[in-house]
Amino acid sequence: MDERMNAQNGINNVLIVGAGPVGAVCALALQQQGIAARVLEAQPADARVDTRTLALSYGSRLILDRLGVWDKIEAVTPITRIHISQRGALGMARLSAEEVKVPALGYVLPYATLTAALKQALADAAIAVDYGVAVARIESAATCATLHPEAGEALTAPLVVVADGGRRGKGKLAPAAPEPKFARDYDQTAVVCDVQTELPHANQAYERFTPEGPAALLPSGERYVPQGDSDFLRAEARERSYALVWSASDADAQRIAALPDAAFLDALYRHFGGRQGRFVAASPRKTFPLKLAYIGSEASDRVVRIGNAAQTLHPVAGQGFNIGLRDAWELANLCGEMSREALGSPAMLAAYARGRRLDVMGGVGFTDFLVRVFSNDIAPLRHVRGLGLLALEVFPPLKSFVARRMIFGARG
Ligand SMILES: Cc1cc2nc3c(=O)[nH]c(=O)nc-3n(C[C@H](O)[C@H](O)[C@H](O)COP(=O)(O)OP(=O)(O)OC[C@H]3O[C@@H](n4cnc5c(N)ncnc54)[C@H](O)[C@@H]3O)c2cc1C
Repeated sequence: MDERMNAQNGINNVLIVGAGPVGAVCALALQQQGIAARVLEAQPADARVDTRTLALSYGSRLILDRLGVWDKIEAVTPITRIHISQRGALGMARLSAEEVKVPALGYVLPYATLTAALKQALADAAIAVDYGVAVARIESAATCATLHPEAGEALTAPLVVVADGGRRGKGKLAPAAPEPKFARDYDQTAVVCDVQTELPHANQAYERFTPEGPAALLPSGERYVPQGDSDFLRAEARERSYALVWSASDADAQRIAALPDAAFLDALYRHFGGRQGRFVAASPRKTFPLKLAYIGSEASDRVVRIGNAAQTLHPVAGQGFNIGLRDAWELANLCGEMSREALGSPAMLAAYARGRRLDVMGGVGFTDFLVRVFSNDIAPLRHVRGLGLLALEVFPPLKSFVARRMIFGARG
């Protein structure tokens, strides 16, 4: 309670920039460690609903469970099986939760329901969140860092956590995100929307690799449910709803996104194949560019970057967001092991960077490998890929290793 009162009285142990999922999880996990955090969020508390869909691993569920948030999230669809294939070539692999001995390989949920549950958890835990307060500048010094909001008082703490989603060049945060240590422009853009299929999803997700880029269908029961229909029709729609992430070259993606519904559904059927029968409906399409930017957690004295602020990944295999949640969790645990004097010290920030390297670089490398090796039509590579998928399909230890890495990340 003393720690909380400290935060409310303006003496903060940790200041967090951004109450997205990563910033919010960090604040909640810090509180479990008895450390007061205060969060500054640029958007107002009643911000417009974000339509993104997130794929959460079972490992991320365990983090949200430990924070008491998981049971409060609505509209979650488990993924119990994943079907991986490549278009126009042999080789496919299937992963199942049963084989890996977990209740689900992952979960699909709207960004908006996750952030709503986290917002409520922050309020229930009496963690101070200043909504509608955009941080304009961070000033760092040897013993503390100071946040300067666009309007209002400056705030100081021995540790500042930047979880602003890495809006390079768009936000006004200064100093702006440093240049990435490693970046790749895949010349790919994702077309995202919700679609309805002829056949029920039965909690199966698809990852289909094509020379133009990967396409993922994630069972997403609560998304494409037409309003106003009967309960029966709504239940039917739930069982046939998928979130689609269709990667294509930048020019193709813009063209695909602009197609009228019927032409879009036909194009998707030709691209994806008929495993789920025909595609019968689609919500409005949105696009976002796909890039790799590895910035790292190192910022400046007393400042650490986590989540998308530290690394932005291609969405194939759903690694980026889950790595971000593990960043938040691991940082809070490390803070809990520190004396108050050591919080935010150079030694602590170096230990954090060291501790995260294997997991983050593993996720960056795996994602980058998948995009580059699968997004082409080079014949020898096609055969090697087919053999790789076949090995994954028939060799249970390999299957278990890959699935567990995707679910729990890599640990040193
Ligand atoms: C358009 C788009 C679509 C995506 N689609 C998918 C998808 O389909 N599936 C998937 O798994 N992942 C997707 N992602 C990635 C996923 O959204 C991120 O991995 C995840 O949101 C990262 O969480 P975060 O908390 O680090 O950042 P964010 O969720 O971006 O949250 C950052 C928060 O910081 C706040 N903020 C920013 N600047 C400031 C400031 N100066 N002061 C105060 N607050 C600030 C923002 O308002 C925001 O609330 C998508 C990303 C984008 C951009």
